[in-house]
Amino acid sequence: MQQLTELFSLYPALFITATAILSLIIGSFLNVVIYRLPKMMENEWQQEYKAYFLSAATAAAPAKFNLAVPRSSCPSCNSPVLARDNIPVLSWLLLKGKCRSCSTPISIRYPVVEALTAVLSALVAWKLGFGLPAAVLIVTTWTLIALTFIDIDKMLLPDQLTLPLLWLALLFSLSSSAFVNPGQAIVGAAAGYLSLWSVYWLFKLLTGKEGMGYGDFKLLAVFGALLGWQQLPLIILLSSCVGAIVGVILLSVQGKNKATPIPFGPYIAAAGWIALLWGEQITSAYLRYLGL
Ligand SMILES: [Zn+2]
Repeated sequence: MQQLTELFSLYPALFITATAILSLIIGSFLNVVIYRLPKMMENEWQQEYKAYFLSAATAAAPAKFNLAVPRSSCPSCNSPVLARDNIPVLSWLLLKGKCRSCSTPISIRYPVVEALTAVLSALVAWKLGFGLPAAVLIVTTWTLIALTFIDIDKMLLPDQLTLPLLWLALLFSLSSSAFVNPGQAIVGAAAGYLSLWSVYWLFKLLTGKEGMGYGDFKLLAVFGALLGWQQLPLIILLSSCVGAIVGVILLSVQGKNKATPIPFGPYIAAAGWIALLWGEQITSAYLRYLGL
């Protein structure tokens, strides 16, 4: 372990490469999380509903379904995914994006999520170098990717992902290598949560509609805990800009009407991630631009 630490400190390229390879494998696992976690939550809700409203006799025990069980299989022909067909990105390319047994196309999203996980994690490793801050931000990056795609699919940011990330961010502030001290982290977390919470209620009182969900508040709390409240305006500004641009594109391309809800989580995740790596540079460049 000591030698590995020295090696990674001496050769940053080695640390970046190791991070990229590990993250490819994690990306493969994130695909499972993105697909299964919402289903696990839905199963749980159904079980709770049945337990509450139906007699225990009619509620049959469900088939076991979690992140490990059952094994991955083709949704079309049910043939299990072989180990050699489970290599991140490479297997998809070798199989030309089709199931080995029935040739049903496999979504390009699987290799995209894997590649994205590797590239973004490698960027963190490159920017921060070997150490605790890099480790925390790499785990944060992985979680943000899972959250982003679950929110796109289901309009949902599961507590199972946002809350552990919040605890991680708060605990990280105890370290001397953290970006903020524990006091700033606590204030940042509360400010992140409450700022969107206020916008939510203001919007709801004015229009009677819900513009976002409670998961969004928790996600912004994570960034407040990591960076302090000072970076929150930048994150909200960035996410609104990107959200507006993507929203306009979606409206014109897909012809979705204005009532179609668009998840806000991916924009907060993207803006927060950018602020984690380049927030200070962006803010100081802006202040220079203002002549301050
Ligand atoms: Zn198949």
